[in-house]
Amino acid sequence: MAETYRTFRKRLLAGEASCKSAVEAYLGRARKDSHLNAFLQLFDEAVENAERVDEKIKSGRAGKLAGLVLGVKDVIAVKGRRLTCGSKILENFESVYDATVIERLRDEDAIIIGKTNMDEFAMGSSTEYSGYGPVLNPVDTSRVPGGSSGGSAAAVAAELCHVALGTDTGGSIRQPASFCGVVGLKPTYGRVSRYGLVAFASSFDVIGPFANSVYDAALIMEVLSGHDGLDSTSAARPVPSYTALLDRDVKSFRVGVARESLGAGVADDVRHALETQIDELRAAGAEIKEVSMPHLDYTIPTYYVLATAEASSNLERYDGARYGHRSNEAEELEEMYVQSRTEGFGPEVKRRIMLGTFVLSAGYYDAYYRKAQRVRRLIKEDFDHAFKDVDAIITPTAPTTAFRIGEKTSDPIQMYLSDIFTVSANLAGIPGISVPVGKDSSSLPIGLQLLGRQFEEETILTIANHIEQSLKS
Ligand code: GLN
Repeated sequence: MAETYRTFRKRLLAGEASCKSAVEAYLGRARKDSHLNAFLQLFDEAVENAERVDEKIKSGRAGKLAGLVLGVKDVIAVKGRRLTCGSKILENFESVYDATVIERLRDEDAIIIGKTNMDEFAMGSSTEYSGYGPVLNPVDTSRVPGGSSGGSAAAVAAELCHVALGTDTGGSIRQPASFCGVVGLKPTYGRVSRYGLVAFASSFDVIGPFANSVYDAALIMEVLSGHDGLDSTSAARPVPSYTALLDRDVKSFRVGVARESLGAGVADDVRHALETQIDELRAAGAEIKEVSMPHLDYTIPTYYVLATAEASSNLERYDGARYGHRSNEAEELEEMYVQSRTEGFGPEVKRRIMLGTFVLSAGYYDAYYRKAQRVRRLIKEDFDHAFKDVDAIITPTAPTTAFRIGEKTSDPIQMYLSDIFTVSANLAGIPGISVPVGKDSSSLPIGLQLLGRQFEEETILTIANHIEQSLKS
């Protein structure tokens, strides 16, 4: 079992550990495990930062996350550091400011040890579409770690950091968390500031944590969450004390099971794990109720119309003039745009830009984009309806466990289908968490997902914590 930040913190405050030695150990492991390709950059100055936090501990001034060793998905801005988004087009681009989440974590004395690998511009479900090579799943290196935050998931699973930040536009925190056997939380849209997060699909994107325990995820959420004047979509609601609420009894909760989520495409071992946990929750006193998600079949097409449309607009800015790679081959301005983008972007990003431009083009806008907006509304209404009867919904996080490297790259539709249970939360803006619940017959981790009402992260964290604790005993 990996050491959680919670346990490390106890040792730290008891004087049995130091931030410096922890950071050195994590950096050492990250270098030794470089074949996993989880990190794109490691920060040597983390050791000095750790020394500073050790001093603060001695003088009793240390923050809430003192000595928390953190990995950051390379789509989040860290001042003075390369910000590649897993893309060759931004290979030499350096951020001139810190994202709000980075500032908040640093203010509480978390120590950033590096930037993690990812699918290019967060488009993918396997981290095979990184411009810097695929990430390997530490549990079985012939398998993908999931994606697009595969580097963050792998780093936490392999104990290369305590916690890592990821982003979730359609499942990119929850699906890799399930493939690597760690906890991954996608907050409510607007719960966490996106200032300093490079946009993929702005009405879906959200930053959240990977951790080795539900408690660690809850703790870091207390620091990440809250209003930010620099992000007008961030919510001004108060932030609950998630950790203080974790040990509530699950008796008071009604948990929904969607008939549709047990259907075709779900691997037997995954279905079995879900049924086992439903029985366990029932035995613990939770009320289990059937709910319906009649529009589940439409979530993938709706997401891939809307997310590509937003991506095609957001990625317009990479034109060779303002940011990143500029081609040397071009003689005229328009040619410079085309050549720079042709050379800089990888195949999946090009596919998304073309799809997105198509669904937004005159003549197709109504048939695709507008219609998808309407279906998005229906999916949101499915959840509003279900959440009148239940406090949370439990599903598999992904239909299968980690697939083999190369298995799905030639068939984009198959790749997109691995997001079937995750994208609906992004369409509806609700929070979701993936919690590990054991292994399948090939010893690969299985994750279950809990979905909650908007701004009720505390409910899904509490139920996830119950599941985690019940598996320990
Ligand atoms: N796999 C989904 C996609 O490729 C989700 C990605 C994400 O959440 N960033 O778009």
